Amino acid sequence: MAIIDGKQISTDIKNEVKKEVIELLDKGIQPCLAVILVGENPASQVYVRNKKRACEYCGIKSLSYELPESTSEEELLALIDSLNLDPDCNGILVQLPLPKHIDEDKVLLRIKPEKDVDGFHPYNVGLLSIGKAQLKACTPAGCIELIKRSGVDITGKKCVVVGRSNIVGKPVGMLLLAENGTVITCHSKTKDLAEVCRQADILVAAIGKPKFITGDMVSDGVVVIDVGINRMDDGKLCGDVDFESVEPKASHITPVPGGVGPMTIAMLMQNCLIACKKQKAM
Ligand code: NDP
Repeated sequence: MAIIDGKQISTDIKNEVKKEVIELLDKGIQPCLAVILVGENPASQVYVRNKKRACEYCGIKSLSYELPESTSEEELLALIDSLNLDPDCNGILVQLPLPKHIDEDKVLLRIKPEKDVDGFHPYNVGLLSIGKAQLKACTPAGCIELIKRSGVDITGKKCVVVGRSNIVGKPVGMLLLAENGTVITCHSKTKDLAEVCRQADILVAAIGKPKFITGDMVSDGVVVIDVGINRMDDGKLCGDVDFESVEPKASHITPVPGGVGPMTIAMLMQNCLIACKKQKAM
């Protein structure tokens, strides 16, 4: 049994990005990410700070826009329009959730697809669904990297994804399919979920319910990717997988924290690099 070290794999990816950024800097190009935060949600502030830190680590320039809660939708859209036009800005990230008076869908649609480093724009989701993704949603792309960099070949494997959200479950399923996995996507209406999960060679849990997947729901040798991040009453984080009962049966498993979590930002850095190279036609 191997515990997949998401911290190490995310550091490896950031180091690969950093190396390529150094080569770009030699050519006078520095990738640049604009991060927009509206309001003072403490969790969002932490995420934004971590994203800026990762940019610094990789040599990516970060532009930070910390706007008051009272910012109107028009003002936010105007900022996005100006960043869309700015040739020095390669990626635009609007930290979610936005205050209630701002329409999130409208905002995400306004970001030019080439600069949509979160991979949430319907254009990029469409490319993903036809197997031609350029900017892939970061957390789902991170799940695939964890599997592949653990030496697991996805081709022909039975992959069960529990969860069908637009930001995790669905794109994970599409990416596994692109890797030639045989994919089953489950959700709250799935019948005999445990039986379906037991068929999995690779199981991805993106449910949002602590310790939901238990040892009796998996088969020996399964590869388990736990996307869940749940805060328990004692303040500790736990995943959607009951690590204690599943780990003894798994061939590979991600812990929480230290599994999928750190991958999201690493993949964001990779997307900034991809966006920059594409815009500069390199
Ligand atoms: P959502 O709440 O949007 O989706 C949850 C999915 O789980 C839904 O498709 C839902 O089905 C399904 N589900 C809920 N209950 C059951 C059940 N009893 N049986 C089977 N399926 C069920 O969550 P997200 O996809 O946004 O996030 C999932 C988890 O991943 C959360 O813990 C979140 O915190 C974490 N997360 C972690 C990230 C990271 O960086 N590591 C990034 C994003 C999320 P239905 O569609 O039928 O309602």
